[in-house]
Amino acid sequence: MIYDPQVYAIEDKSMVPFISEKEIEDILDGANPTRERVREIISKSLNKNRLTLQETAILVNVTDPELVEEIKEGARRLKEQVYGKRIVLFAPLYVGNLCINNCEYCGFRATNKDQKRTTLTHAELIREVEMLEEMGQKRLILVYGEHPKYNADFMADTVRTVYKVKKGNGEIRRVNINAAPLDIEGFRTVKEAGIGTYQVFQESYHRGAYARYHTGGKKKDYNWRISALDRAQEAGIDDVGIGALFGLYDWRFEVLGLIRHVNHLEAVYNVGPHTISFPRLKRASNVNYDQQWEVSDEDFTRMVAILRLAVPYTGLILTAREPADIRNEILGFGVSQIDAGTKIEMKAYAEKEKDQDLDAEQFEINDNRSLSEVMDELIENEYLPSFCTACYRTGRTGEHFMEFSVPGFIKRYCTPNAMLTLAEYLEDYAKNGTREKGYKLIQKNLKELDDDKFKSKLEERLERVKQGERDLYF
Ligand code: SAM
Ligand code: SF4
Repeated sequence: MIYDPQVYAIEDKSMVPFISEKEIEDILDGANPTRERVREIISKSLNKNRLTLQETAILVNVTDPELVEEIKEGARRLKEQVYGKRIVLFAPLYVGNLCINNCEYCGFRATNKDQKRTTLTHAELIREVEMLEEMGQKRLILVYGEHPKYNADFMADTVRTVYKVKKGNGEIRRVNINAAPLDIEGFRTVKEAGIGTYQVFQESYHRGAYARYHTGGKKKDYNWRISALDRAQEAGIDDVGIGALFGLYDWRFEVLGLIRHVNHLEAVYNVGPHTISFPRLKRASNVNYDQQWEVSDEDFTRMVAILRLAVPYTGLILTAREPADIRNEILGFGVSQIDAGTKIEMKAYAEKEKDQDLDAEQFEINDNRSLSEVMDELIENEYLPSFCTACYRTGRTGEHFMEFSVPGFIKRYCTPNAMLTLAEYLEDYAKNGTREKGYKLIQKNLKELDDDKFKSKLEERLERVKQGERDLYF
């Protein structure tokens, strides 16, 4: 379809690009954040309703500091009421950084001759996974540049390899992917390899901004990218992740772009994205980016609170691009997944002593804590770290939606499974202090269970974990 900038409120159809810049701009221009309206919208969300584009735009336009605080408080309450203290942990694994594209913000772009290019060999991939398993990781996201070498068969092979690696009690139980858009056939191939979520970030939903940053390679084609997850759905992958790179264009526009994308997937496929990511632009090798659209910490934290309220039943992912203090603040707003122990230089998990080197990574990360440090801190703050992968393995897809909408789901599945995977971690990987604190936290969570029969079932499974059994879940 040829895009006509005058077309307004594009009808949602499979594979048809759905963003109308004019629609979003008009909604933003017309959104008046009166005190009364903002409060109504926050309570609509607290009553577990999704917000419309217009309502989200009203939150986005709030500038009054008191109302901003009410938005953040609303997000905190939603998180507490609905999701509790559980946080899912994962780690990224960069498989290859060859790239034919020229995304101006990225250290991997084709014209960056200083970037050290590598594709992990089979043996190197296994070694990286072994190291990740030795830390206690159970969930990975594999990341690839865009290159003919990294076609669907290649990706599927790497996924299968990762699942086969078993080191001690370690194993990877869920492999997600962040990579270039595939065609329908390609998506089928990676689905067959058993992937969890397929993530593709639109980077910018604004065509003008998108064109400025993507000047070479296949990624130049906005329509191919915006329809990527439609093709994934057509191929039977109903577990998809969307995202925007904050700092390329007006963050307010991008928030509405993300919500519009959720609306599109729900309208056409009856299922929204599993997760939303909101990476913020960071330093990268030989990148001098225009700071016009830089998102301040204050705007960034507010933006996450708005997303939480706008799509209460979509998972939110916060990565180690952000420093620990920002991560800690945002955890309280309902982020559901974080990475921990993250290293993004090629081969860095195996080559432990490597310092961060901008010329060997895509961008700079700002939270360099190890998995064990993050686990210790989460436990200290009474968050319940989880490595649970039960839903996708039992065919309960769309679990985030279920957590939200099925009464008792979190109590019946998520919390106990978090406790079981935490117990595994404490047995196999935790240092002494963390182990004690972790078991105390499990006891505290057990006390909060009101169904005695279920509680004793869980206690029995926790005991079996202590005795050496692994991978028990509800
Ligand atoms: N090459 C694939 C693609 O472009 O879709 C895989 C994704 S890329 C390796 C992962 C994501 O990192 C990108 O989609 C982009 O949002 C983000 N990214 C790229 N450069 C970045 C930077 N300088 N700071 C923060 N995030 C960045
Ligand atoms: Fe390549 Fe992805 Fe980086 Fe763009 S963001 S240059 S496609 S690795």
